[in-house]
Amino acid sequence: NPRPLVAGNWKMNGLKASARTLGEIIAGYDAELRDRVDLLVCPPATLLLAFAAAVNDAPVAIGGQDCHAEPSGAFTGDLAAEMLADAGASAVIVGHSERRIYHGESDADVRKKALAARRAGLTPIVCIGETREERDSGRTLEVVGRQLDGSLPDDATGENLVVAYEPVWAIGTGLTPTVADVAEVHAFIRERLVARYGEEGAAIRILYGGSVKPANAKELLAVANVDGALVGGASLAAADFLGIAAAY
Ligand code: 13P
Repeated sequence: NPRPLVAGNWKMNGLKASARTLGEIIAGYDAELRDRVDLLVCPPATLLLAFAAAVNDAPVAIGGQDCHAEPSGAFTGDLAAEMLADAGASAVIVGHSERRIYHGESDADVRKKALAARRAGLTPIVCIGETREERDSGRTLEVVGRQLDGSLPDDATGENLVVAYEPVWAIGTGLTPTVADVAEVHAFIRERLVARYGEEGAAIRILYGGSVKPANAKELLAVANVDGALVGGASLAAADFLGIAAAY
């Protein structure tokens, strides 16, 4: 089994003063936790430099939340993967449903971003997941399969890519799929990864995301083929984030 990863997606939250939270996360990531799980914090880009400096040589990784596909150019307001890497990021979330929905990102866009991340030496965390309507009409696996096919590069490995399954209806709602539903989708994703990438497909980490809290982390993270969590709201408080990591 791949080594588990618990990643915090801070979304559009956090100011300079949030360095305190990061400090608490670093302090609480003790030897016992470090033995069992990797930690990644993805703050807004304005905090990347400061967070990377604060982490110093502690084993907490820092990541971005999105990147542009191009390495530089006339793209006002966008950030290149190379800029995130330069600021100290080692990973970047791409294709989050909030990007797909509010910024119209397609699978093809997401794949370009994943490739851009790799070009810059970052690990892309590629997000996929169905909407409520898609689940209710029985199309979850079809949608997830299509997103996987379209959003992932052809040469993904366990070292250079992470997949995050985040059902859109579970994000920020307090709702989660049943353990059986999580098991079904993650097994399906694993099967597709192995079919496409062979042995490497078995090494690619598949995170679950959507209303993960300390109270439900144990049961969600114990599911087969769940190799960690992508945590939104609960990653903003150090105790909750560490509480989720401690589920391992
Ligand atoms: P919540 O944990 O707040 O539901 O958000 C999940 C998410 O979108 C992480 O990327």
